[in-house]
Parts: sequence; structure tokens; C-alpha cells
Amino acid sequence: MDTTTMTDIKGFATRAIHVGQAPDPTTGATIVPIYATSTYTQEQLGQHKGFEYARGDNPTRMALERALASLEQGTACYTFASGMAASDVVLRLLAPDSHIIAGHDLYGGVYRLFEKVYHPEITAVTYVDLSDSDALISAIRPQTKLLWLETPTNPLLQVYDIRQLTEIAHQHGIWVAVDNTFASPYLQNPLVDGADLVVHSTTKYIGGHSDVLGGALVVRDPGLAERIKFLQNAAGAIIGPFEAWLTLRGLKTLALRMRQHTHNASVLAKYLTNHPRVAQVYYPGLFEGASMAIVKRQMREHGGMISFELKTSGRDALEEARDVLSRFEVFSLAESLGGVESLVGHPATMTHAAIPKEIRESRGVRDGLIRLSVGIEDEADLLEDLEKALE
Ligand SMILES: *Cc1c(COP(=O)(O)O)cnc(C)c1O
Repeated sequence: MDTTTMTDIKGFATRAIHVGQAPDPTTGATIVPIYATSTYTQEQLGQHKGFEYARGDNPTRMALERALASLEQGTACYTFASGMAASDVVLRLLAPDSHIIAGHDLYGGVYRLFEKVYHPEITAVTYVDLSDSDALISAIRPQTKLLWLETPTNPLLQVYDIRQLTEIAHQHGIWVAVDNTFASPYLQNPLVDGADLVVHSTTKYIGGHSDVLGGALVVRDPGLAERIKFLQNAAGAIIGPFEAWLTLRGLKTLALRMRQHTHNASVLAKYLTNHPRVAQVYYPGLFEGASMAIVKRQMREHGGMISFELKTSGRDALEEARDVLSRFEVFSLAESLGGVESLVGHPATMTHAAIPKEIRESRGVRDGLIRLSVGIEDEADLLEDLEKALE
């Protein structure tokens, strides 16, 4: 069976395990080997098998890229040393003096990349509430080249209508990049809804075991693919073969893991909604009205991320949060998300500390906000841990 593309296979779990992962042509090894080589020997001058130097091409990396392209329903994927390295390549695609519109509820590292690395010499960025399409329309300028969005967002899990926002952007010749890290390709495929670029931190759900960093860009347009491929080689922020292999190993169980993440998170989210110490719960499975309609159409399931805000009852919110965070035992207090183990985080002082306090708070990321990356441990143990933390 030719498993390089397997375009006729529809099932997500099957594609995750097989696409791009045919047995090794030299030995028949069932699992794609780690091609730890920096260069490739040429039979004669100019005669090679399509591989010259490993920054340009590596078979382990290619296997991962083919699998991810298939899972995101794209035509090409390129992988990088981290999610930030992948994001950086998107910005390198823009001409100087381009204008970017981004959702205001944004991963802190991407905000820092916009503000401290590219702004203001290369780009200007306007942050808008993307639940309001009029806000997007009024932010558009003649130089606007890119709309950057996350859905569900970090850390408030807000969902935006990719199809509607893309239609507006495309009417103005604006590319749309969707950071799909929180959803993973299992929960949603932005390219199907019209987006031009999908960005992933494969460090999270795709790798899934908190043991490797990586990033990916997935596209449909061949012209865009060619430009990204050029930058991958020319700027050189590639993923290494061992990291590509670990990521591919994680990817094989993505469907199974996402189902369990969703199951466990749904149980915990429901518990939190009825808790007297909790003021608000953010979870896509609990949304109502317009957000619920978007979730239903756009997402296959609800995922493993939950955020909730503590009631402060007169106490300092940071102290209150510190107190709750100190009582978790199964959940580890750590940055990051998407691994098999449950993590708990405090966005205001951890992932979102790079955003100035007034801006952060105006966007709802307050000191009493706690974020859970619900893992795939036994549901009863996670529930008990949460109960104890909130006692
Ligand atoms: C982690 C993360 C990134 C950055 O990825 P790294 O692999 O840590 O460089 C970007 N976007 C989102 C939504 C993330 O969670």
C-alpha cells in the first residue's frame, strides 16, 4: 500500500497512523527511522535521490509533514523548531510596512513577537475583538495583509467564526492565519473553512507528551507553500530528526487522546459551574447562544482546556489563586498544555505575564483566573484533586 498520501482514506485516526509513514524503503522498518544525517552522498556529481543537505530535506521530518498536511486537509506542511519559529516564518512572508489585525485574546508569545520583534519597524498590529465582525471591518487599512486569529483562544477559550471572518478578510485581499494549537487538527480544520495558513505549536496536543518542542505551518495554496519551503531552508529554524520522530510518535494517538481529554474536561467543567467558589467557567462545551452555534458547526468536540475565575469575596485575587494552586496534587503547576498529564496554570503571572497589566485585565485575564489543561488520567482522580484544591 502506498501510504505517502493515502488520499482515499477518510478516517482521522487511520491517517494519523499511516499517512507519510510507509515502511522504510531500504529495510522495511515499519516505523519511520530517525534519519540522523546532515548530508546525503551523491552517486555522481549532481546525481542524488532528491536529498542534498538536511536543512533542506530530511525523511523523518517529511513523514511528519505529510501526516500533518493530511490531518489539516492541506496540501503542504512545513515543520519548525518551535511554535514560535513557525509563527516567525508567517511574519517573514509579509512585505515591510504591512499591517496585521489580530484577535485581542492572544497567546502571550505571539503578542511579544508582534510587539517586540516586528513592531514598529516592520509591521503595525491592531488588536480587535473578533466576535464583532464590524470591529474587524473598521480595523482594515489599505496595508492590511494578515488576519491572525486563535480559536478557541488562550486563556479564555473564546470561539470565533473562522468562515465568516475569512470571507471578510478575503474580500479585502487579506490572508488569514489560524493558530490551531488549542484545538489540534482533531477538533477543527481551519483550511476547510477558508483560512490560508494553519499554525501549530506541535509542542502541545500534537506531540502530546510534554517531551518535545516543535511548530508547523499547513497551507493549501502551492505558491504560499513554495515561499514557506524557501524560508524553512533559507532561515533554517527546522525541527531536528529526533524531535520530528517524537512528534510523529505522539501524533499517532492524537484522536484517542483528544477524545479522552474532551471527556475528562467536560466532567470537570460541569463540576466547576456548580461550585460556590467559582465565579465563571470558560469551556466551549458550556457556551450558549451564538458561541454555541459556532462550536457546533466548527468543532468536532470540545477539547481539554478549561479556564475559570475564582470568586474573591473581598480577598486579594492573587492570594486567593495562590492558595488554590498550592493545593493541587495530581495537576502540576506548570506552563504549557496538551500533554497526557494534567497541568494547572495562572495566566496572569505565567503565560500572559508579558502583556501589561491594564491591557491584560481589560481583556478579562485577571488575577483570579486559573487555567486547566485536563490530561487523560482517571476522571475520578482529577475530580477529587479539583475538589480538594477548591475546599
Ligand atoms: C505554546 C503556544 C505557541 C508557541 O509555541 P512554542 O512551541 O512554545 O514555541 C503558540 N501559540 C499557542 C496558542 C501556544 O499555546
